[in-house]
Order: sequence, then structure tokens, then C-alpha cells
Amino acid sequence: MNAAVLVLDVGMRPLRVEPWQRAICDLFLGKVEVVEYSRDRTIQGATREWPLPSVVRIVRHFKREKIRVKFSRINIYARDSFTCQYCGTRCVSEDLTFDHVVPRSRGGRTTWENVVSCCVPCNRAKADRTPAEAGVRLRSRPRKPTYLPSITVRLSSPNIPAEWAPYWTITLDG
Ligand SMILES: [Zn+2]
Repeated sequence: MNAAVLVLDVGMRPLRVEPWQRAICDLFLGKVEVVEYSRDRTIQGATREWPLPSVVRIVRHFKREKIRVKFSRINIYARDSFTCQYCGTRCVSEDLTFDHVVPRSRGGRTTWENVVSCCVPCNRAKADRTPAEAGVRLRSRPRKPTYLPSITVRLSSPNIPAEWAPYWTITLDG
């Protein structure tokens, strides 16, 4: 059986999709609780059939360790909520790029503090200039994140079980 479980964060926002085996494991460990059971899938236990969880929610924050967030394209997008930091347009990752606030040609470095998510048109328009020269303003000051923001999961619609529908707050790929 190849069934996935939608995992919600404490605030009921989609966090990730994981194999049902892992969700069952987290359930037994008390890390998650079931929000919705699958309407058509069960697990065959030793003595009876169990309904298969389809949506689970993380019940509490575990010890919040400070983690080192890897500097990567996707983590920059996640930090910036997939939003162009100049015009504020929310994009899918394919339409985003990243921009050196202070261009590399002016000594700008590739760091959390100098790299922001940027849509392609803004990136082209700004070109090799500083925001002041290009007449644009950053919507927020880029910082190094101390925790990994949740990344919205995107799936193609035929695979999405009906029970997940209420938890999606984003447009799904058609
Ligand atoms: Zn933009």
C-alpha cells in the first residue's frame, strides 16, 4: 500500500507529506494526533483492521533546538514565504530567483543578509544596481533564520485524498 499522510503543524497548517508508516510511528510516540482518518483505506492489524490516518497534526513543539538552517535556494524562498522581496508577489518556486541586494560586482556577498527571493521581472529590472539606484525597496530586512520555516507542500491534484482538502490554503497544481 502506498498511502501518504498529510502532516499539519500545531496551527493546523500543512507542513509536509509523509509515508503512512512514519505517521503511524509518530502516532504511537505521541508526537501527532489524528485529525482525519482515510475514508477508504485501512491497515490490517493482527486481530482487526484499523482505519488509516489521512491527516495528522503535530501535538506540541518538541524541545526547540536552535538549528543551523542550511543556506539554500529553497530555504531562502521559505524564509521569504515565496514572496518577491521587492514587489511582494507570491510565486511558485519556478518563478522565483534570488537577488543579491548589494550586487556582487559591488562587493555584495552571498549570505542570508544579502540574498533575497525575487521574481524574474524584478530581478531583470534591478539588474546590477543597488535597491536605491534601481528605485526599489526591500519589504523586509533579510536575516539569517534560526529555525526552518515550514515549506508548503505541492502535489499534483489527482493524488490528493478528499480528506486533505480543508487543510490546503494554497492553490494546488492542476
Ligand atoms: Zn518582484
